[in-house]
Amino acid sequence: MGNAHVVRDYYGILGVDSDAGPDEIKRAYRRLARELHPDVNPDAAAQERFREVSAAYEVLTDPEKRRIVDLGGDPLGNGGGGGGGAGGADPFSAFGFGDIMDAFFGGQGGGRGRGPRSRIQPGADALIRMQLTLEECATGVTRDLTVDTAALCSECTGSGCAPGSTPTMCDICNGRGEVQSVQRSFLGQVVTSRPCPNCRGFGEVIPEPCRQCGGDGRVRSRRTVSVRIPAGVADGMRVRLAGQGEVGPGGGPAGDLYVEVEEEPHELFTRDGADLHCTVQLPMTAAALGTTLPLPTLDGTEELHLDAGTQAGTVRTLRGKGMPRLRSTGRVDGHGDLMVHVDVAVPTKLDAKQTELLRQLAELRGEEQPDLAGGNRNGHGIFSRLRDSFGR
Ligand SMILES: [Zn+2]
Ligand SMILES: [Zn+2]
Repeated sequence: MGNAHVVRDYYGILGVDSDAGPDEIKRAYRRLARELHPDVNPDAAAQERFREVSAAYEVLTDPEKRRIVDLGGDPLGNGGGGGGGAGGADPFSAFGFGDIMDAFFGGQGGGRGRGPRSRIQPGADALIRMQLTLEECATGVTRDLTVDTAALCSECTGSGCAPGSTPTMCDICNGRGEVQSVQRSFLGQVVTSRPCPNCRGFGEVIPEPCRQCGGDGRVRSRRTVSVRIPAGVADGMRVRLAGQGEVGPGGGPAGDLYVEVEEEPHELFTRDGADLHCTVQLPMTAAALGTTLPLPTLDGTEELHLDAGTQAGTVRTLRGKGMPRLRSTGRVDGHGDLMVHVDVAVPTKLDAKQTELLRQLAELRGEEQPDLAGGNRNGHGIFSRLRDSFGR
């Protein structure tokens, strides 16, 4: 006998016992990969060892190859009957880097991941809109909302199988979730993988789908959710309810539910952040004589006193009478202001007596014929403000 036939100790390379389960093998591989991976350890000896470790992982996670090992053979070796067609070629070179990376990073679910993809996928987020009045935005509200989302199927609790049945391994891909085809080209053999069409890449099929969900593991359902909207919200803001969105395929974890605020226009107030604005149409006589008027605010009616001689364009600021200031922490930090803009209304329909009284007033004030150039008795030309503002 010439060369002794060397059988690689795949269990020893990974440092696991020959009865190790798949999880233990995976853990051992990951632990070794973390210290030997070329990205971490560029040393040549480490790279050689990493290739051994990766090959051992590939062999021991493939039931067919593992059986050969357990029977005393070497699925990658040149032993066995014919002395090995590949000859002295390094058996470990058969493993591409993609395989190693997939195993290292778990490879589950991704498009080109190795092995079957999981039937269980995370669910999507859901969005609903809620109309609120300005007053409700100011105080916050708690309201029950009817939401229509995918929910866990109560019949199969997400498995998609009819009661008493279980998924079976796909016999087209033998549970791998992908099928391979080999093409010959002048470069050699090219092996391509694609998801198994029979099981859609899951590696298993559901022989008896659940009647309630048709095998999806979830059903549409309508339910009521209580939503608390904090004080100070504004149009377009979203409140997130974790885990109240759509349940995923296969009963996967639910996404989040977002409630978006739609603020209805208010008949008196317009809003600018936390500040509110409103306009008072003051009769000319009230503007001249001064007045006190009832002003509606978010806290109820207040008395607003306006001095005699209030001009159009006057802005009165009521500190702290605006909206609650909502911080990103979710807490309210003080209030904005309420700005009252004064507009002076000039009467349009005067009867004979009113006209006569206004003429008398004009006469008393020397304003019958306003002096455009020189100014009136008060010493101000009527264009002075205009001139000032243009001269700026
Ligand atoms: Zn079901
Ligand atoms: Zn299949």
